Amino acid sequence: MLTRSNYFDPENEWEYFGSTQFKSFLKCEAAEMARLNGEYTPGTTTALLVGSYVDAYFEGRLSEFIAEHPEILNSRSGALKAEYKHANAIIERCGRDRTFSRFMSGEKQVIIAAELFGHPFKIRIDSYHPGKMIVDLKVMKDFEPVYVPGKGKLNFIEAFGYDLQGAIYQAVEQQARIDAGETDAEKLPFYLACATKQETPDIAIFEIPQYKLDAALKIVEHYIDEFAAVKDGEIYPKRCEHCEYCRATKRLKGPVILEDMQNE
Ligand SMILES: [Zn+2]
Repeated sequence: MLTRSNYFDPENEWEYFGSTQFKSFLKCEAAEMARLNGEYTPGTTTALLVGSYVDAYFEGRLSEFIAEHPEILNSRSGALKAEYKHANAIIERCGRDRTFSRFMSGEKQVIIAAELFGHPFKIRIDSYHPGKMIVDLKVMKDFEPVYVPGKGKLNFIEAFGYDLQGAIYQAVEQQARIDAGETDAEKLPFYLACATKQETPDIAIFEIPQYKLDAALKIVEHYIDEFAAVKDGEIYPKRCEHCEYCRATKRLKGPVILEDMQNE
């Protein structure tokens, strides 16, 4: 049984795919396998922790979160570090907006599991409005386009793979209802409730159009058998040769010729 406390336990990470795991496999199979094997722990950045702080607030477990993460407090004064004081300002800004608050008023951190394309998946919804919508909360630098190597500048939603996350959340939620006997279950709209870390935080609710979510689900369908085979040890994981893990474990075979470098 998946619960909040065992959601990211290694045994459940091995058993289920999730949207973060799928996106990580898509980025670099070798790094994700090393993470699953416990050989490599991607660093938790302050940027990520600020997002988790805001998540914890909306979930109503901020005091537990602070107790679990003493590093967010100033060791001498015991007061919140500046980034988290600012996180409080972001939370205050979100709370001041009625629409934002309405989207964030669903059931919090709802865990659902179902099979997609023959493989078990798990999702955890930030704000679930059964029968109406799925909302995911994001705290980010800003809403500007993001440069993605090989793809150029993309809107932040596609740059960060939030379309893939939405597609997986929608499909798993729908499949779980079909499994429960609701044979005509339709997909629920997927929204991102976003706030920025800018000095004066910006807020927005973004809807990812269904055709984009459908296209993203095709990507899941295309890769999932390969990723499952990698997880099962049937296929050797591919290295991307660009990520932190690949850089740290790289073994030089000799000089790189300029023309090859340009093609990488
Ligand atoms: Zn890599």
